[in-house]
Amino acid sequence: MSYDPQPAGSHYIGGAYVEDKAGAEIAVIYPATGKRIATLHAATPAVIEQALAAAEAAQKDWAKWSPRERGRVLTRAAQIMRERNRELSELETLDTGKPLQETLVADATSGSDALEYFGGLAATLTGEHIQLGDDWVYTIREPLGVCVGIGAWNYPTQIACWKTAPALACGNAMVFKPSETTPLCALKIAEIMVEAGAPAGLFNVVQGYGEVGASLVTDPRVAKVSLTGSAPTGKKVYAAAAGEMKHVTMELGGKSPLIVFDDAELDNAVGGAILGNFYSSGQICSNGTRVFVQRDLVEPFLDRLKERLGGVVAGDPMDEAVNYGPMVSEKQMRIVQEFIRKGKDEGARLVTGGGQMAGAGFFLEPTVFADVTDDMTIAREEIFGPVMSVLAFDTEEEAITRANATPYGLSAGVFTRDISRAHRVIRQLEAGSCFINSYNDAPVEAPFGGVKASGVGRENSKEAINHYSQVRSVYVRMGDVEAPF
Ligand code: NDP
Repeated sequence: MSYDPQPAGSHYIGGAYVEDKAGAEIAVIYPATGKRIATLHAATPAVIEQALAAAEAAQKDWAKWSPRERGRVLTRAAQIMRERNRELSELETLDTGKPLQETLVADATSGSDALEYFGGLAATLTGEHIQLGDDWVYTIREPLGVCVGIGAWNYPTQIACWKTAPALACGNAMVFKPSETTPLCALKIAEIMVEAGAPAGLFNVVQGYGEVGASLVTDPRVAKVSLTGSAPTGKKVYAAAAGEMKHVTMELGGKSPLIVFDDAELDNAVGGAILGNFYSSGQICSNGTRVFVQRDLVEPFLDRLKERLGGVVAGDPMDEAVNYGPMVSEKQMRIVQEFIRKGKDEGARLVTGGGQMAGAGFFLEPTVFADVTDDMTIAREEIFGPVMSVLAFDTEEEAITRANATPYGLSAGVFTRDISRAHRVIRQLEAGSCFINSYNDAPVEAPFGGVKASGVGRENSKEAINHYSQVRSVYVRMGDVEAPF
């Protein structure tokens, strides 16, 4: 049975839906039609207080649970999410406009992978013993306390789970604020957590615009802030968290390079570029939007790309035959259109696309520019839409230098049949999540996150544990204390 997009309340706190209509209205728009599907309200100061108090109380008890028992709750939540994958995917499609064909395999499934992985890892989290002759040191790995998660709108379910699973596994509580553009699915995850046995108040969801996030970040009860968002927001949140020396994870934007050498297997390289530019209609932080193609291969690459873009099926995202959806919002569509205009004005060659698609909804054609140079706006700024820039290069050294000439460092990819070159090049690219003969794979087992202006900290993998726990050491002297006087 499908979920009603209108939730029973805007927020989920202490194991129940909460509403306070005094908060600013949030209109939830289905991007495929432009029609309102739900109305929520931003959290008022009273709601924020309720959420933080609930989280603080629940965390104290949760931290005393054995890690194995904590892990069992997460694993059970993962199972429930899998059982309800279709309902959750349909809701995610309504929230984001992403085709059901995608959400069925990439959203609740990725969220449940994280819950399952960290559920399994929980029981293995220990301190260590360090022998120093007769004396010794032991370490205590402990939770941070109340964590705040703030999400972007492109992968709302995945972002909520990627933050919450390691946080809870380590014994923390979470107050999560989704983007106000996509507020629906996090509420369902909160329901599922309680159903799976999480204490009420352990995972709370509050809705709101940036100022709700800002007041969560500065609250003295909050020990850690994990943001997925743009680099400018990241700088603001990082600075606000620094006031009280809070822990942070910043998963920010990028302008990632994808380098295609002339010995690459053409169809795989084109496939990688398609995944890295047009999946989720290009609304993915790690996208390889600067596609550097070795000069001899540029025209064959563009020809094959155009042919394969003929396979785009845009339309009703609930139709599982549709593989291409709208922009998340009219605002985002306008932002992307402005970048397309700049691309044309600054002299890039429009190979295909560039326009809005006919009909209701915020659909933009998959757009490819060639003859793009490094100084053009479309090659420098994150667009967050279906716009690929193809840049020609001659030598390996040149490709590496130009690929690194960006303040960002989220992802990078290389396509070549030369295995030595693949590793040599990837080693020199300044990016956190890299790919060889592939693009945008993000299994929970692999660390995910950026270097340079793309962020700090890592999500997923064992690395995430270090960002949701702290280690204290205890020195144990077995003999007498020697003091100078
Ligand atoms: P924004 O940076 O605009 O917003 C991110 C979140 O932060 C939203 O929930 C937003 O609330 C909130 N926020 C805004 N201002 C503040 C503030 N001062 N204090 C606390 N919270 C605040 O990003 P978008 O939602 O537009 O998402 C797109 C961006 O996210 C892109 O740059 C993309 O690259 C990045 N991203 C990064 C990923 C990664 O893992 N590296 C993955 C996905 C996206 P509100 O929306 O109400 O303003």
